[in-house]
Amino acid sequence: MTLIDGRAVAATIREQVAAKARALRSTGATPTLAILVPTDDEATAWYVRSIERMAEKVDVRVRVVRETNDIGACLAELSADPTMHGVICQTPLPAGMSLDVLGRHIDTAKDVDGANPVSLGRLAVGLPAFAPATAQAVIELLRAHGTTLAGTDVVVVGRSSVVGKPAALLLLAENATVTVCHSHTKDLAVQTSRADVVVACVGRAQILGAAHMRPGAVVIDVGTNPTADGGLVGDVDTAAVEPIAEAITPVPGGVGPVTTALLLRNVVSAAQAASASSAQE
Ligand code: NAP
Repeated sequence: MTLIDGRAVAATIREQVAAKARALRSTGATPTLAILVPTDDEATAWYVRSIERMAEKVDVRVRVVRETNDIGACLAELSADPTMHGVICQTPLPAGMSLDVLGRHIDTAKDVDGANPVSLGRLAVGLPAFAPATAQAVIELLRAHGTTLAGTDVVVVGRSSVVGKPAALLLLAENATVTVCHSHTKDLAVQTSRADVVVACVGRAQILGAAHMRPGAVVIDVGTNPTADGGLVGDVDTAAVEPIAEAITPVPGGVGPVTTALLLRNVVSAAQAASASSAQE
């Protein structure tokens, strides 16, 4: 079984992003990402630091804003700031708040992690839009592995607005035959074990095992589940599927680094678009 190396895929994307960011900087534009941090959640703080580290490597500037109360107004303000090219809001949000509702405050031109429901709607009808970077990472990793998607049976397990649904839409756009499973799916193993490609985005440690896989399946494991010893495991029991699957993304080192690289690629694309439209004015 092949381990699909997300760190290597991310490094290639980063090189391309850095070249584009440098070209933009030479015209006086500095690609900039605003990150709204709404809680002092530890995992969020870790993820924000990792975005900052990767952004520094590719010449993208990051501005971190902490706001716990008026999150919608803060996102609108950051969107209106011409020096910000991308705006994202970290989750988890404070109790009672949802990014599905607050995402509408992010201008779609700066919605580099696809949080505005309008971006998801545009994806659904095939119009240009930023997709959530994690959903894009699923496609990028399958491409890097050389998986043909047209006509391929793909089962996506999970239907959130940030991962499962947009991943399913992007896979459909690649002409895959897509089935989406969720917590009400009657028999998960019946669905996943007939798939050529399984995309696991559940958030339950090692919920998918040997009985869920067809021989030769390619598996993208999006899940990141903390372990008691401070580590991370995916939604797939990698050791159990090892004799059956053709390839799998490791956790950590699979979807995560590619997601961050693609987020930064989206920021640079947004900065390029802003720079082209200001040149036309
Ligand atoms: P989420 O909003 O909690 O969605 C989980 C989905 O899994 C829901 O659609 C849920 O179904 C479904 N589900 C739950 N239990 C199930 C079961 N027993 N059988 C089948 N489906 C089940 O989570 P998310 O935000 O999409 O994230 C999913 C995972 O990806 C998490 O581990 C998260 O940490 C990880 N993630 C990783 C990255 C990365 O860059 N690596 C980025 C984002 C997320 P219902 O809709 O019916 O409730």
